[in-house]
Amino acid sequence: MIIAKTVEEVRDAIRQVRRQGQRIGLVPTMGALHAGHYSLMGAAKADCPFVAVSIFVNPAQFGPNEDLAKYPRTLEADLAGCREHGVSLVFTPESAAMYAPDAATSIHVARLSEHLCGASRKGHFDGVCIVVAKLFNIVLPDKAYFGAKDYQQASVIGRMVRDLDMPLEIVVCPIIREADGLAMSSRNRYLSPQERQQALALIGSLHLADKLAKAGQRESKALIGAMRQHIATAAPLGQIDYIEVMDPDSLSPTDRLDGPVVIALAVKFSSARLIDNMRIDPTRLGG
Ligand code: AMP
Repeated sequence: MIIAKTVEEVRDAIRQVRRQGQRIGLVPTMGALHAGHYSLMGAAKADCPFVAVSIFVNPAQFGPNEDLAKYPRTLEADLAGCREHGVSLVFTPESAAMYAPDAATSIHVARLSEHLCGASRKGHFDGVCIVVAKLFNIVLPDKAYFGAKDYQQASVIGRMVRDLDMPLEIVVCPIIREADGLAMSSRNRYLSPQERQQALALIGSLHLADKLAKAGQRESKALIGAMRQHIATAAPLGQIDYIEVMDPDSLSPTDRLDGPVVIALAVKFSSARLIDNMRIDPTRLGG
């Protein structure tokens, strides 16, 4: 496994891989790897003989009051995990290797990146887009793999790739969960035991919405109301940032479940802001 710290090292390796005609899969991450990340590597490995993983805590996507400094960094364990999962190259740059001091370019995906997480994390998706675009230009992957856990992020990146004619395919992989249903996240480790218990309210509220929808409830407002109530009771330490029922492609809010929808939510605990989502397809609905 190649461990590259500079753009040049990656480019040298990629030139050789391209010469051999191998397909390249890229999995961008911020490290502190868990089974969610490894599932993306598994999907990449199934498609592409050469899998590159980036591990970079990208300052550009953190707001001034966010957790950049304390974001978990577990590089040795991450490298061992990548090795175990058959990764060919890990790119783990320092910030200075990614951003020139006078870097001046930004990428803004209008509308799609401005509500939901974009509303409470101003500039977050611009930071995601610039780093992901740079990684695409450095690694030149045929396919790049993202988790449905960050549903809005995957949509924003898909739109950027389409709008800028970037020559690669975006693959979105399912959410990997802990045994009790909590969506895996590097930030789960911030939670106190009590918060960890209450964090189950996210998936609990999604299951509740799914159940109500299956029982015939088509009004988004009613589903959101029931979810709010569930969270207020099951997670008094949590503060709801948003709950939205939306069109899976445009991410526009929908009033009724007349087709498939994605329900997404964010809940802030004192130590971590958690997100989760679920696709609900009315064709699967009962009564
Ligand atoms: P991060 O390191 O949190 O920036 O995540 C890197 C990639 O892993 C993103 O595409 C995430 O959506 C994906 N990811 C994170 N957690 C999960 C999960 N529980 N299941 C599936 N993918 C995930």
